[in-house]
Amino acid sequence: MFDSYPKNAEEMVDTQISNRDIFDQRVIEAMKEIPRDRFVPEKHRLLAFADQALPIGKNQTISQPYVVAFMTQALKPEPHSRVLEIGTGSGYQTAVLASIVKSVYTVEVIKSLLDRSRTILESLNFKNIFYKCANGRSGWKEFAPFDRIIVTAASNDIPPELLEQLSDRGQMIIPVGRQHWSQELILIKKKKRKITKEKLLPVRFVPLVKKS
Ligand code: SAH
Repeated sequence: MFDSYPKNAEEMVDTQISNRDIFDQRVIEAMKEIPRDRFVPEKHRLLAFADQALPIGKNQTISQPYVVAFMTQALKPEPHSRVLEIGTGSGYQTAVLASIVKSVYTVEVIKSLLDRSRTILESLNFKNIFYKCANGRSGWKEFAPFDRIIVTAASNDIPPELLEQLSDRGQMIIPVGRQHWSQELILIKKKKRKITKEKLLPVRFVPLVKKS
């Protein structure tokens, strides 16, 4: 049975990503290049290229590869985009984005996870990622506005400060809903202060903590 898991990133993308509704070549190329196994704790390495979320400690998870691909594609990242990411976690989603866009500002509330992901991302030679340990509900004001915002933990509401820090014609993606209940991935577009929301996909994420 273990033989059936993909053994590298290229196999993972060929068998689980590019044969589904993922067609953005930049996302496909980035996910083929990035060694997902480096972001997965050693004891789970056998499953590093399987299409599932895995524990990374502190009750948190690295997201399922398909969900990373789906969210990245839906965000429509451009080469010149400055992206704010809330919930660094393992740093894998950060790496996928940083391969495509100009810069990624990533905020994680658990310091040990941020330190771990920073070490991995720096060892992979990413130089366009900026790190902050804080509650991401407040965004990262000093560097706002952002062209794109991605939240990788589920919230009951859409944090108002994130909406404020989204640029005109900016887009944000966030899982909205209660823990263990149905959550929906929501795509938000801002145009001349007008906000539109679109439901994309039912998902299950760990909660976006309110207090830290
Ligand atoms: N994209 C990440 C997902 C990690 S899980 C990956 O694939 O690895 C979500 C992460 O969000 C966890 O690391 C959790 O600690 C973090 N998180 C939860 N609430 C947060 C908040 N309010 N601010 C910043 N990070 C938060």
